[in-house]
Amino acid sequence: MTRLFGTNGVRGIVNQDMSVEFALEVGRAIGTFMGGRVAIATDSRTSGDMLRSAVSAGIVSAGSDVLDLGMLPTPALQYYVKNSGAKGGVMITASHNPPEFNGIKCVDHDGTEMPRRKEEVIERIYSERDFALPAWNAVGRIARMDGVASSYTNAIRRAVDRFKVQEAGLTVVLDCANGAGSITSPGLLEALGVRAITLNCNPQGTFPGHPSEPTPENLRDLVAAVKATGAALGIAHDGDADRAIFVDDKGTYVPGDQSLTVVASHIVQEHGGGTVVTPVSTSSCLEEVVRRHNGQVIYTKVGAPTVARRMMEIGAVFGGEENGGLIFPEHQYCRDAAMAIAKMLEIIALKGPLSELLKEVPCRSLDKRKLPCPDDKKAWVLEQVEAYFADRRTDLTDGVKVYFEEGWSLMRPSGTEPIFRIYSEGKDEATAKRCGDECEKVVRELLEE
Ligand code: MG
Repeated sequence: MTRLFGTNGVRGIVNQDMSVEFALEVGRAIGTFMGGRVAIATDSRTSGDMLRSAVSAGIVSAGSDVLDLGMLPTPALQYYVKNSGAKGGVMITASHNPPEFNGIKCVDHDGTEMPRRKEEVIERIYSERDFALPAWNAVGRIARMDGVASSYTNAIRRAVDRFKVQEAGLTVVLDCANGAGSITSPGLLEALGVRAITLNCNPQGTFPGHPSEPTPENLRDLVAAVKATGAALGIAHDGDADRAIFVDDKGTYVPGDQSLTVVASHIVQEHGGGTVVTPVSTSSCLEEVVRRHNGQVIYTKVGAPTVARRMMEIGAVFGGEENGGLIFPEHQYCRDAAMAIAKMLEIIALKGPLSELLKEVPCRSLDKRKLPCPDDKKAWVLEQVEAYFADRRTDLTDGVKVYFEEGWSLMRPSGTEPIFRIYSEGKDEATAKRCGDECEKVVRELLEE
């Protein structure tokens, strides 16, 4: 059977592996599986119209109806699906990938990313060409739906203390990377009474401003604009605006694990405790701060859908990833950048500047390495690594995470590439490097066997 869906949908280069013919057939499989009303939206990529049309044609050919929501952030589509009674949703996006890429991502009826077992059914239908093929008078229809962006931002505005935010009279700089966040975030800020200076907030599929991954290199203009204007905050999104990365009032780029910790700290204090869920790869600064406020951290495998589902199961108060993907359970069980910026503004309005809030967060250094590893050797290497570190404290949630006296290392094979990754964290660069060196030596020797 063909595996279509990776951790974030099907992705490929447009008109090569991501062709109209392919999208049409994936659409037929999705329409066959969902058997009802399906909402669809795109990010700002140039191939958005082409792929939305092809997937939609496939869906209606299988007898399902399509509600076309136009261009929206992924979490806005998810919010619509959760509240609309649709059977599911389809997002045409390649998130932060370069502009020549695009992808197809499925959303379950409750607005969460589609669980793997359902994706497998779609893959089976696709592989076996087991498509529904109704008679001429039973094919579906495509209807256009407007106004979804404003109902989404209204819900977010109501989910925070908007009067406090308005009173604070904040000025921020917003960089939407020419992505789908341009549709919702400027309006959200206006509705919150925040003055926004905008960069790259016109949707443009070639991403002319900068590549859409919110890395420090890509956000140099944002950092400069925050410094030049004396803004209280800089905000950046990735291409489909499920992630938010911040620049503080001093013009310093804030790594995602630190902003995650600032928000977690506030939410745990509000709740007088509670559980925060995050992947095993997240910095231990989160756990340190959450515990200080009588909360606890539960670790999952890497991947936002896994975090979201675990949060749902255990009734977590908050969750998220170190890449700026924050999940607010009262709002919805998926990463939501607009909700993240509204919450961050509320926290700043209530407690003071982000640079001050960050003083609570211990600094950690990260050391990342990868070693080439053939796919058929991955499981064996992992087994041997586990045995080697058996007498140490380990966490086997995803790969092998080993705790050293002064830090930790996470060793796990990549799910998509023939490589073995080693992430290490320590209180400073030298410590993180020592952890990384020790683990690399072990993995390298195993690979040479
Ligand atoms: Mg994204």
